[in-house]
Amino acid sequence: MDFAYNDEQQEIIKVVRDLVEKEIIPYASEMDEKGKLHDGLLEKLAAQGLLGVAIPEEYGGAGLDAATIAAIYEELGKGCAGVATTVAANALASYPVIIAGNDDQKTRYFDIINQDKLAAFALTEPGTGSDAGSVSTRAQKTEDGKGYVLNGTKCFITNGALAEVFVVFANARKSGGVRGLTAFIVRKGAQGFTIGKEENKMGIRASNTTELVFQDCYVPMENRLGREGQGFRIAMNTLDAARPFVGAVSVGIAEAAFRACCEYAKVRVQFGKPIASFEMVQGMIADMAMQIEGARLLVQRACWMKDQGMEFSREAAIAKCNASDVAMNVTVNAVQVMGGYGYIKEYPVEKYMRDAKIMQIYEGTNQIQRLVIANKTLY
Ligand SMILES: Cc1cc2nc3c(=O)[nH]c(=O)nc-3n(C[C@H](O)[C@H](O)[C@H](O)COP(=O)(O)OP(=O)(O)OC[C@H]3O[C@@H](n4cnc5c(N)ncnc54)[C@H](O)[C@@H]3O)c2cc1C
Repeated sequence: MDFAYNDEQQEIIKVVRDLVEKEIIPYASEMDEKGKLHDGLLEKLAAQGLLGVAIPEEYGGAGLDAATIAAIYEELGKGCAGVATTVAANALASYPVIIAGNDDQKTRYFDIINQDKLAAFALTEPGTGSDAGSVSTRAQKTEDGKGYVLNGTKCFITNGALAEVFVVFANARKSGGVRGLTAFIVRKGAQGFTIGKEENKMGIRASNTTELVFQDCYVPMENRLGREGQGFRIAMNTLDAARPFVGAVSVGIAEAAFRACCEYAKVRVQFGKPIASFEMVQGMIADMAMQIEGARLLVQRACWMKDQGMEFSREAAIAKCNASDVAMNVTVNAVQVMGGYGYIKEYPVEKYMRDAKIMQIYEGTNQIQRLVIANKTLY
């Protein structure tokens, strides 16, 4: 067992940390306020290859293992979870193609991302959240059998208005149900495909979240991923692969909040002493430290299991659920340690608290993670 990052990982972490310090942290508050990425940031992230970390090397990507990707996302999470979400959505949208794409699809899809473009994963709908099998966007096969026509609306899609390419889940069976769920690659600008409402969010405000509207949108057969009806398995395997990364971003948020409140506690004086000397404050600091260390280890363990080719679905759910609960708890307590100042936007911790909340919700809520963990444990 080795708890240290190897030389290559350390080098990558250093590069990302540098980028985070110079290009993300100085603009994090402004991005949060304006609800969009800082101009030019996407190009800088792309220049470091961060949009293609999950893409296999043979298709022009970085082909990094999960443990290294998690280390990168933790660093991004320390800087701004909205930026981390934007970048991580590219990995989320890459996995369906890695899992089910043929050689031609991989070449075409990854060529687009390799040209510094964003991608999006579109599963959720207004009436379909946790119950992913109930997707009602319809994919009707054309009479000549050469393609499908999509009709329906997706909601809460990260990178919706920014992505060049989308993986969209739709139901090929009129009667609906899990067995009809099918995955498709859709290009931005396809006829009948428009971007709908942009959401105004509590946190991760630098990231873009929109509706996607399909009205008689034709998708050629060569853009169907896997077989008809394989979509549910593709979606679940994708979420398994990506969940430890939500955990990694959560660890990053928690670590940033932890450091900020520790620094503050050492200099804030009340009753003639730094508040760091009060045992109740120390108790909060110690709890945060334990929780963050544990969360990081569980994230790295899930990634290690994936990298070893082991079954890791249960551990991915544990990593995501635990780390996001830790991020929420730590950020709430970081605000507490900083008192009234923690509540004020001049300090970064209230943003960390708002950003942490989504980690318990997206890519499967933490109630759904607990269902997965219990089911995998009991049966
Ligand atoms: C900012 C943001 C970005 C997102 N990005 C994407 C994206 O890129 N792509 C995408 O496809 N989706 C995305 N989502 C959607 C996200 O994954 C869903 O919001 C999430 O899965 C929950 O679905 P829901 O919101 O419909 O909640 P619901 O499923 O309606 O759940 C509501 C509540 O009921 C609970 N609940 C539901 N079922 C059960 C059950 N069986 N047992 C116990 N409790 C249950 C839930 O845990 C939750 O507390 C995003 C959402 C947000 C807010």
